[in-house]
Amino acid sequence: MPQEVLLSVKNLRTEFFSSKKSSVTAVSNISFDIYKGEILGLVGESGCGKSVTSLSIMQLLKDTPGKITNGEVVLDGVDLVKAPAEDVRKIRGGKMSMIFQEPMSALNPSMRIDKQMIETIRLHSDMTKEQALAHAADMLKKVGIPDPPRVLKNYPHQLSGGMSQRVMIAMAMSCDPKLLIADEPTTALDVTIQAQILDLMKKIQKEEQSSILLITHDLGVVAEMCSRVIVMYAGKIVEEAPVEVLFGNPSHPYTQGLIASVPKLGSGVKVLPSIPGSVPDLASMPKGCRFAPRCKYATDKCREQEPELIDLGNDQKCRCWLKQEG
Ligand code: SF4
Repeated sequence: MPQEVLLSVKNLRTEFFSSKKSSVTAVSNISFDIYKGEILGLVGESGCGKSVTSLSIMQLLKDTPGKITNGEVVLDGVDLVKAPAEDVRKIRGGKMSMIFQEPMSALNPSMRIDKQMIETIRLHSDMTKEQALAHAADMLKKVGIPDPPRVLKNYPHQLSGGMSQRVMIAMAMSCDPKLLIADEPTTALDVTIQAQILDLMKKIQKEEQSSILLITHDLGVVAEMCSRVIVMYAGKIVEEAPVEVLFGNPSHPYTQGLIASVPKLGSGVKVLPSIPGSVPDLASMPKGCRFAPRCKYATDKCREQEPELIDLGNDQKCRCWLKQEG
């Protein structure tokens, strides 16, 4: 049965402006779909454009020098790029919400948790204050917080990192979002809490049949959580594949490098291979394939011409001349 598309991103380009005439392109030619009920991973090193992509989808670039200069972001039939700001504000936090890496930056430090949760819930529903408070307590219970009435009376600084992250997940899920964007949701947490939070997100996603766009640099998390994966490099998608295809048969040299640098239990390897060099600066992108300066297979053609993202079959796409020339 064909899967139903929830979010469709088409030819998205986001630029950052330092003046009216001068800009750098942070992401371009970004096109992908998220299906209903799936967890899609978005991976790549820092600076590859993952977070800009998520902020562009959420239409949260207003407080930055960034602007979407091309493309569509269609959620459930509505193009959020063209929709009036008021409509987008209603959709954000309602149909679509986001979990950030740093809960402390998303929670208001001067407001008690109950007030913050009630405000969010009432903004997107017809609930009375009492109903919203009961719903907030239910949500905290759902994310495994013991004694919700006590936590609801706390200010964010009175909670541990793991607890604040749970509160943020509860808040993000409180209006039954169809799409949850989680940007490095566990990076700031220690390993045991990380596992608990990921399990929790998976459990809620299954129960609610929601979709998650999971942004991470951690391929272990992707293997654990996602059904499909998009790999970004220097502001472009370089590979897209179902998770088992990506790990079993990575097609782009960048993906191969990322996978090779993940420690494997019992492999006996003492020094892990790493990808030489670093992600290029937005202001000075190399000509041709953006990965060429770090790629051991690079040819003169790679350094001159940029490859397109092509379909390899098996739902796998790749942006590399090696694949286009067989
Ligand atoms: Fe490497 Fe060339 Fe492929 Fe780029 S196009 S990833 S440089 S082989």
